[in-house]
Amino acid sequence: MRVIDAHAHTWIRDIISEKDLEARRIAAKRNGSTPQLDSPAINLKQAMTKAGIERAIILPIDSGLNQEMPLTLTEKTDWHVDEIEGEDSLYTFVGIDPRRGEEGIAELERAVTEKGCIGWKMYPPNGFYPDDDEYYPLYEKAAELGIPVLLHQGFTSRYKHVKYARPVFVDKVAADFPKLKIILAHVGAPWVDETLMVAAKNPNVYVDVSGWQMFAARTPIKLYQMIVDAKSFRVFPNRMLWGSDFPLFEHMMELVDWVDFFANLEIPNVLLDAGYPQVTQDEIENVMWKNAARLFFGEKL
Ligand SMILES: [Zn+2]
Repeated sequence: MRVIDAHAHTWIRDIISEKDLEARRIAAKRNGSTPQLDSPAINLKQAMTKAGIERAIILPIDSGLNQEMPLTLTEKTDWHVDEIEGEDSLYTFVGIDPRRGEEGIAELERAVTEKGCIGWKMYPPNGFYPDDDEYYPLYEKAAELGIPVLLHQGFTSRYKHVKYARPVFVDKVAADFPKLKIILAHVGAPWVDETLMVAAKNPNVYVDVSGWQMFAARTPIKLYQMIVDAKSFRVFPNRMLWGSDFPLFEHMMELVDWVDFFANLEIPNVLLDAGYPQVTQDEIENVMWKNAARLFFGEKL
């Protein structure tokens, strides 16, 4: 199975804030793992090689309006662009908080046209509802540039605000910009129904399954239920993207095992007996490779 990881991260402690470092320490303590204070591209590359992943998309987050950050907006973009230089398997988005206004529009254009970024990542828990009219010029610019926008949805860390991460606040944007491709990360967990509703009514909306290793490792029935629900809403198989959120879930399920789990995914009898259909290898291939190849790389498959 060829695989694209549609949702990964790289950082070193020098580019993130004290607050985020602390949030990572808190999270690690809670789950008994070592905090991920540094995870440069080389770590991702090694894990990808072991897992047989051909390409990964890195998603920088612009937290500059939420907290004190060591790098400016453009410096952060450039850090990520420099990190993947010469790596033909790694690609990066640009992280922009839409409250930046004109500065954000200029950076989106620069990042895409001059720096080769292939999409725009937004992190609403930093303190904004994505459907404010004020941000529409930025959405217009993204649509004009022909790049997708990915929004973090659902669960967030200690010092961010989860109320902004509800999928329902993306619906108006999706309806008003039908040509703009929008990805709702993590299938909005735990707001899965709300995510699937927004995706079901807007054909330009996709979901990614990054972070679902948590369920695969502990309570896989939740993952199977999500897949069959997504299938009944016609979001699976053509508008679902496989992803990892690397390195955040490595302590629960390593990348290689997450690939293996999803590539061999079978709906269990308890759900088949309840009337849900089985999934096919073709469908899985769409999620793990084809959808991302079309969406991010314009491949005709
Ligand atoms: Zn993420």
